[in-house]
Amino acid sequence: MDEKNNTDGGPAEPGESEAGLDALRRDVEEADQALVDILARRLALVDRIAARKSESASTIRDRERERVVLARAEARAFERGLSAPLVRKILEDVIAHSVSRQSAAVSGAPAPEGIVRVAFQGVAYAYSHLAARKYLAAGNLAGKFQGHRSFRAVTAALRSGEAHLAFLPIENTTAGSINQVYDLLRTEELAIVGEEVWKVDHCLAGPADVPLSSIRKVLSHPQGLEQCSQFLQSLPQAEPVPYFDTAEALASVAAAADPSQAAIGPPEAAQAHGLHVLRRGIADQEENWTRFVALAREPVRYDPRVSCKTSIVLTTRHERGALLRCLHVLSDHGLQLTKLESRPRPGRPWEYMFFVDFDGNLADESVAAGLDELKSEALYVKVLGSYPAKAEPVDIAASSGAPFPLSASPAPPSTSTPEPPPVSPSPRTRTPRAYKLVSRDARSEDTRVRVGDLLVGGEGFTVMAGPCAVESREQVEAAARGVRAHGAHVLRGGVFKPRTSPYAFQGLGYAGLDLLAAAGRANGMPIVTEVLSPEQVRTVAEKADLLQVGARNMQNFELLRELGRVDRPVLLKRGPSSTIEEWLFAAEYILAQGNGQVILCERGIRTFETATRNTLDLSAVPVLRERTHLPVLIDPSHGTGHRAYIAPMAWAARAAGAHGLLIEVHPDPPKALSDGEQSLTPQEFGELMRGLETVGRPAFQAG
Ligand code: PEP
Ligand code: MN
Repeated sequence: MDEKNNTDGGPAEPGESEAGLDALRRDVEEADQALVDILARRLALVDRIAARKSESASTIRDRERERVVLARAEARAFERGLSAPLVRKILEDVIAHSVSRQSAAVSGAPAPEGIVRVAFQGVAYAYSHLAARKYLAAGNLAGKFQGHRSFRAVTAALRSGEAHLAFLPIENTTAGSINQVYDLLRTEELAIVGEEVWKVDHCLAGPADVPLSSIRKVLSHPQGLEQCSQFLQSLPQAEPVPYFDTAEALASVAAAADPSQAAIGPPEAAQAHGLHVLRRGIADQEENWTRFVALAREPVRYDPRVSCKTSIVLTTRHERGALLRCLHVLSDHGLQLTKLESRPRPGRPWEYMFFVDFDGNLADESVAAGLDELKSEALYVKVLGSYPAKAEPVDIAASSGAPFPLSASPAPPSTSTPEPPPVSPSPRTRTPRAYKLVSRDARSEDTRVRVGDLLVGGEGFTVMAGPCAVESREQVEAAARGVRAHGAHVLRGGVFKPRTSPYAFQGLGYAGLDLLAAAGRANGMPIVTEVLSPEQVRTVAEKADLLQVGARNMQNFELLRELGRVDRPVLLKRGPSSTIEEWLFAAEYILAQGNGQVILCERGIRTFETATRNTLDLSAVPVLRERTHLPVLIDPSHGTGHRAYIAPMAWAARAAGAHGLLIEVHPDPPKALSDGEQSLTPQEFGELMRGLETVGRPAFQAG
């Protein structure tokens, strides 16, 4: 046979000379180069298309066209005697790459200047590193990669500015979700700006090209060993040795240069360390993929033409069917769920928060509207990011003609097919007020906010009591015992005090918070305390069950925004010179950020009257009950400023329909460092509580 014509790469004939083989190898290399040239040509065309698209409104991803292209390529592969699935797979990768390029071109994302510094967990050539390289290459970006020991160190590098991007694995198709990463997403203020998928393709590699039977030790990460257990069973003479990292295991085998040792890991790492790949494709399961997320300090707003996936964290209401209602909100807005993951809620045994991914770009009307409605349905919503999706289920509609799309954006409503019945039983009629989330129009039922193990709002009546300020261990303990004995539910106490005079007692700060928390624990009461600045919010939230915004801070919008970003309930006091409308807008700031756990507290407003410290606006109660679904408390201590007036106003508050009270109680009021004249003794507080029992609370009818 003429060697030159032997282009189908069949096995060499026995008579073929060494020189003939060399020529064949050269031809193969040429064919490989030609393949690369063709890919480059294809990319250049794609860039030209991207340039056109960035001037027009056409969407980046045209799934119908992709389907046709893939089907044609499969048919051609079949004609040429090639494996159609192989050709489909290669083309899918090539198309995904093109889509990323186009997305980057129109994303509106600021192009990082020069080199992008990327932090990942592990050492060079770890799967995270390989996937990060793929991600940057798809966006046509140059990267400088830094390996870190832990996931936490990776996000720390991002926060400090040492890295522009953090690249973390979030789930694996065989091992499931990576919980540590989900927990970091929940606690850290970072945004998901992209994702990448990587096929985990373990190989066995060693320093010399030896028969497998001579291998005595196989090093790898325990997961690598486990994922290749069937292969390892076929090597009974080789002892599996757990190692902390796959890429590092390969490096260590290379350094030892002992031909009886081998390691399991990525072939790219084996090659980088000059090892011989002894066997590829050794994992028990062929389809083993890891999904990674790219995190940045600030979210990226992708152009609406880029089809995106949006990830959120959700805490549901403490009501039957709450999760289902949240999912209905998404489906009512045509948003398809692609992932639902639950994680335990910290400090709340047997309660869960949910991580939800759905198809849709935040820049889309439908996504923005869906999220708005979700914020009034859920207690807490945090948007993690909206970014081009790469992990998508196989589109069986493409090959089987299934009548429903499994992925991609929802099909436009067709006029020829009947509309499916609405999922939610009663479509809401809305006349939106400007404060749309706190408004009763957004939610006709009363919101109940969980504080510790209590629910505030709805039918309950909650009394929060304790000293104006935490002054000492003895004082706060005596106050806690005193109020608890008379039936208070929540312990109050200021540790950061917003005093009118800078020379007045400013509170004990974090030391006081520890005292308050200890007194609350000892007496079985959750605690409420005031935060003065955005910087205090997260630290105080670790110990306090309810975060108070003082009257003087009602319009501290940075503080409100930060409170909206944490999953802790907020007690929002009314500003002394604020209208009810301004107050509701302040609450709206918190809800708009995603935290729906807000309790309002009327504490008196400034009028011309001087007989009382403030004028307690009890008429705010029925007004608020009509306008908002949020719970309303009354603080008659600051509202009147005089011990004698507190109990009557507390009783009146209950009769007016308030959901509870905030009362200052001090074990020895004359010695109080602040607000002594308006502090009750524990005995006086007991009388107030007994009087409450005789006051009926009217049922409130909204509207
Ligand atoms: C308080 O409740 O401790 C307080 C300072 O109240 P206000 O913000 O209503 O003055
Ligand atoms: Mn006070």
